[in-house]
Amino acid sequence: MLEIINLHVEVEGKEILHGINLKFSPNTVHALMGPNGSGKSTLANTIMGHPKYVVTKGEILLDGENVLQMKPEERSKKGLFLSFQSPAEVSGVTISSLLRTAVNARREVPLSVMDFHALLKEKMVELKIDPSFSRRYLNHGFSGGEKKRAEMLQLMMLEPSYALLDETDSGLDVDAIKIVAEGIRQVREKKEMGIIVITHYNRFLEFLQAEAVSVMIDGKIVASGGYELAKKIENEGFGGFENAN
Ligand code: ADP
Ligand code: MG
Repeated sequence: MLEIINLHVEVEGKEILHGINLKFSPNTVHALMGPNGSGKSTLANTIMGHPKYVVTKGEILLDGENVLQMKPEERSKKGLFLSFQSPAEVSGVTISSLLRTAVNARREVPLSVMDFHALLKEKMVELKIDPSFSRRYLNHGFSGGEKKRAEMLQLMMLEPSYALLDETDSGLDVDAIKIVAEGIRQVREKKEMGIIVITHYNRFLEFLQAEAVSVMIDGKIVASGGYELAKKIENEGFGGFENAN
């Protein structure tokens, strides 16, 4: 279980999250929805340990263990993963070398170069990514859709226990969204994975078969429910929730 307890978060001295309580279950697809600027990315970045996001109160527990004192790389080793809304461009680091370092950092015995490349190739085929992709510098000159595919390739190579997908579907066409959803489904067949999806669109949630939905407005959770909540939002927007604050 990934538990967020009374979480208050400040960015540059301003409180953005005002006491968030959420429980993400293992092996469940949980959607986090809300208008722009409500604090969804702030929550995702805070869970991952981005230094810009300062927790002033509350706890984040991963299977009962407080992760707040852990660095991002330690959280990653514990099984947390964040796919960024706006992935950074890193010149000089190929996707392949980044992934080999990341995969081996969490193994006692590193994969041989050959085994690593076989695994990488297998995942790239699953995601219908061109083989030359892995030799390119991370996100350098990538289109929006290519950046999101690179994020998904990382997820599939690292097989986290909880994956936060921050608007992973934005910039992808429907075919690419299907491929990403199918890739996630395949990972989940082999390994239990909790998925926390931040999205504005029902389609991605439908493909991923989201079971739980929580709504964030102005740094607070104002509603939680099942998939029907996402459908209600698609039809009616967030207007009906504003008063819940
Ligand atoms: P969402 O992802 O729901 O659109 P965000 O978490 O990105 O919302 O933003 C919530 C609020 O926090 C916004 O008012 C935004 O301006 C502010 N904020 C978020 N991240 C930063 C940052 N790195 N620097 C300054 N302000 C930020
Ligand atoms: Mg965001």
